[in-house]
Amino acid sequence: MATNDNQIAGYYQKLLKRNAGEPEFHQAVAEVLDSLQIVLQKDPHYNDYGLIERLCEPERQIIFRVPWVADNGDVRVNRGFRVQFNSALGPYKGGLRFHPSVNLGIIKFLGFEQIFKNSLTGLPIGGGKGGSDFDPKGKSDAEIMRFCQSFMTELHRHIGEYRDVPAGDIGVGGREIGYLFGQYRRLTNEHESGVLTGKGLTWGGSLVRTEATGYGCVYITNKMMVANGDSLEGAKVIVSGSGNVAIYAIEKAQELGATVVGFSDSSGWVETPNGVDVELLKEIKEVRRGRVNEYVEEATGAIFHEDGSIWDLKADVALPCATQNEIDGEHAQKLVENGVKYVAEGANMPSTAEAIEVYRKNHIHFLPGKAANAGGVATSALEMQQNASRDSWSFEYTDDRLKRIMENIFRHTSATAAEYDHEGDYVIGANIAGFKKVADAMLAQGVI
Ligand code: GLU
Repeated sequence: MATNDNQIAGYYQKLLKRNAGEPEFHQAVAEVLDSLQIVLQKDPHYNDYGLIERLCEPERQIIFRVPWVADNGDVRVNRGFRVQFNSALGPYKGGLRFHPSVNLGIIKFLGFEQIFKNSLTGLPIGGGKGGSDFDPKGKSDAEIMRFCQSFMTELHRHIGEYRDVPAGDIGVGGREIGYLFGQYRRLTNEHESGVLTGKGLTWGGSLVRTEATGYGCVYITNKMMVANGDSLEGAKVIVSGSGNVAIYAIEKAQELGATVVGFSDSSGWVETPNGVDVELLKEIKEVRRGRVNEYVEEATGAIFHEDGSIWDLKADVALPCATQNEIDGEHAQKLVENGVKYVAEGANMPSTAEAIEVYRKNHIHFLPGKAANAGGVATSALEMQQNASRDSWSFEYTDDRLKRIMENIFRHTSATAAEYDHEGDYVIGANIAGFKKVADAMLAQGVI
C-alpha cells in the first residue's frame, strides 16, 4: 500500500518538474492520481508497464503559428495548439478553445480530462484538445473567418475521421466550425464529414449537438438527485455562465420544473428570482453576441450585479457552466451556507481542489465535469456514427440516446465508487471508471 502511495507521489513530483508552469494541468492530474491510489491498492497490475506515467504524457503535442490579417490591414500572430493525448479507445476527440487565456498547460489539462470523460461515455473515442490564444471578442465576422482559415491551414494535416476529430469549446461554436470545415474541405478536396463535429445540420451535423452538453448535465443532475431522494422539480438552481452549455442547462432545468435563479458572464451576474426567459437570453447571447446586462434591460424582475458573486445566491443546486476554477474554497463555503446540496459541473474543472474538499466535508453531492458534462462529446460521437453511416437521426431518437448515455454514466460512476468503498464519492467513481477502460486498452495494446 505504502509502495503505491510513494510511487504515485514520485510520478507526480517528476510530472511537476517536466511540466513546469502548467498549474491547471498539475491540478487535473493530481485529482486523478489521488483516486488512482485506491485502484492500485486493489489492482496493483495497473502499475505495470509504466502505465500511469504513459497515461500522463500526451502521445503528441502540436504547437503552431497562426498569422492572420485584421480588417485594418494589420498582421496579427496567434498560437495554435492540438494535444493528442490518448488514442487507446478511438481517434483523439475533443474540442477547440479560442480564448486569450489559452496556453499549452490549459490545453493539456483539458486534454487529460477528456481521456476519462470520453471513456465514461462508453463510446469509442480517445482524448484530445486544442485551441488558440485568439480572442474572438470584438472581432468582425471576416476576421473570425480569416483566423479560422489560417488555423486550419496547419491543423488539417494532423486530423481526420480515423485520426483526430476536433469540435467546439469556449469561443468555438457553429460559425467557427463552419469556417474550419470549409477550409479543411478546400485543402483536402474531400467532403470528409467525420473530421469535425458540431457541424451545421445540412452538411453532416447532428440534431441535439447544440443542446447536448447543457441537456446532458441536467439529465445526470436529476438522476443524481433522484438517487438521493430529491429531484429538480421545484428546485432552485444557479447556473453560472451564459454560453452554449449554460443556455441549454437553463432550458432543460426549467423544463424539468426547476427555477433558475441566476446566470453570469465575465462582465457580471444576473439574479433571476422568477426564473430565466431562455428565448431572450438566446437572442442576446447567440444572435446579438451581447453581454448579460442587456438581459435586465429587457426582462422584468431581473437584477444585474457587477460585484459579489453568483455563488452568494440561495439555492438547492449549483451548475457551474462557465470556466475552470470559477468556484474556490470560499465560494464553496458560501454554497454550503446558502443551502446548496448538489453541484454538477457543466464546465471543465470549475471547482478548485479546495472547493472539492469543502463539498466532501459538508456532504454535498458532487458530480465532476468528466461525468456531468460528457453529454457534449457523447453527442459528437453520435454525430460521428451518423456521418460514418451517411444517415441522420431524429431529434427524439438522438435526445433519448443522450439521456441514456448520461444515466449510464451516473450508474457506472456511482457503482464504481461503491465497489471501491467510497459510496457517494462521484469524483472517485468517475476517475476510476474512466481510468479502468483506458488502462485495460493500453495494457492490451502494449508499451506504445
Ligand atoms: N468541448 C467539449 C468538451 O469539453 C466537447 C468536445 C467534443 O464534442 O468533441 O467535452
